[in-house]
Amino acid sequence: MAVRTAAVAVACAITASACATTVTLQSATGPVEPGATPTPAGSSATPTASPTPTARPALAYDEAIDDYIVDIEAFWARHLPDVFGVDFIPVVHLTPFDPDDRSTWPPCDGEFGPMELYRDNAFYCAPDDVIAWDAEGLFPRLYAEYGDFVLGLVLAHEYGHAIQSRADLLGPDVYMELQADCFSGAWAASLLDTDGPLVLAPSDLDVAVAGFLEFADSAALPQSTPDAHGSAFDRLRAFRTGLDTGAAGCVSYLDDPPDLSQIWAQGGGGDLPLAELLPSMIDDVGLLAEDLGGADAPVAGLPESLVVVASDEVALQSCRGAGQGPDTGPVAFYCPADDMVYAAELDELWSRAGDFAASYLVLHAYATAMVLSMDEGRDVALVALGADCMVGAWSRRWFDAASSAPVPAALALTLSPGDLDEAIVGVLLVPARAAFGQRVPDLRAFERISSFSDGFFDGLDSCALTG
Ligand SMILES: [Zn+2]
Repeated sequence: MAVRTAAVAVACAITASACATTVTLQSATGPVEPGATPTPAGSSATPTASPTPTARPALAYDEAIDDYIVDIEAFWARHLPDVFGVDFIPVVHLTPFDPDDRSTWPPCDGEFGPMELYRDNAFYCAPDDVIAWDAEGLFPRLYAEYGDFVLGLVLAHEYGHAIQSRADLLGPDVYMELQADCFSGAWAASLLDTDGPLVLAPSDLDVAVAGFLEFADSAALPQSTPDAHGSAFDRLRAFRTGLDTGAAGCVSYLDDPPDLSQIWAQGGGGDLPLAELLPSMIDDVGLLAEDLGGADAPVAGLPESLVVVASDEVALQSCRGAGQGPDTGPVAFYCPADDMVYAAELDELWSRAGDFAASYLVLHAYATAMVLSMDEGRDVALVALGADCMVGAWSRRWFDAASSAPVPAALALTLSPGDLDEAIVGVLLVPARAAFGQRVPDLRAFERISSFSDGFFDGLDSCALTG
């Protein structure tokens, strides 16, 4: 996040509710390391999703590659004729290689790419009709960290480029990449409702979320362009489009491209220290709650105070009526008993995953309070998802504040695309808490991020917050 250059100091004059907020920083928020700029794409911030249970026994590595390729080909044999009016022809070369052994590298159009094309990568080369992957580094590592499904996702994405080639689809690189993600989502959907051997559990989609944060994709040789693959946030949205609408829903990616957070984005932000960030953020939430809510703004639902405490244990004890024992790690939740938001161990998350990952926890707690103020009787999972959606709507305003879009003049902060990816990391790393710090059972990160994305792109109306 960044401080908005035009931010003015009169926020309190505009809304009393924002003024009422006090931020208490206790011992947990010591000085933060300067220069720590974690990125979701970096290895240290990338969560490991391996504990995610799957609905079936894991496939062995070689079996996974073989079985997923067979299934992806069967999928396109069924859908390519309907969707694009082209008969399906399988990819000619499916080539594992060792990046340290040039004799195993597949050339593309008679040339070898630079080392970056091969190390930790998978790619499709149209002139030679080859899908190739690093079979010594990338694939074994992905398999070890995330399980077998992630290999299917990468192969489905690369196969998506082969489909583009067969259907003569051409567009700017970033949309070609996102369409390939959309195709991989369409294929994944076919595994959710099947009684075949590769059936997916919805929890496998969390693996996809984690995987998208780290995939280093490369456009096909020779016009490989870095940074044109879409942020994890945009890529996940493309994947979900395919998941929801099938291959036909991916057709418009090139003629009528979707909004892209990555493309609107101006500038970066770096990571603001929490002591500086949190007071401004809470003031901004007061403004946004009023601004987005219009005349019926439930600003009264905003908690009075944010209290940052040293540990989860202290936070839970501070909230009267808390029924659950402490555990370690970053946490933030709304406490209806004293109308406060408690947060603990945010520093750790800040260092590991960035300022907006830590902010997201706190924002989610504020949004939980507001969702409850609108519909007290709502199921805990729906409260949590509604809060994710509301945080998405707020985030959009901070995001717009970095550009020329109209936003409340007194907003203090701005968001960059990297922040949106940090939100995804935060959701993956820290489970949602309901009021009183209660855990929310059976809520998948994928659902939460989808809800956040809905709020971001479609606004508060898409959040279904009342009755
Ligand atoms: Zn690609």
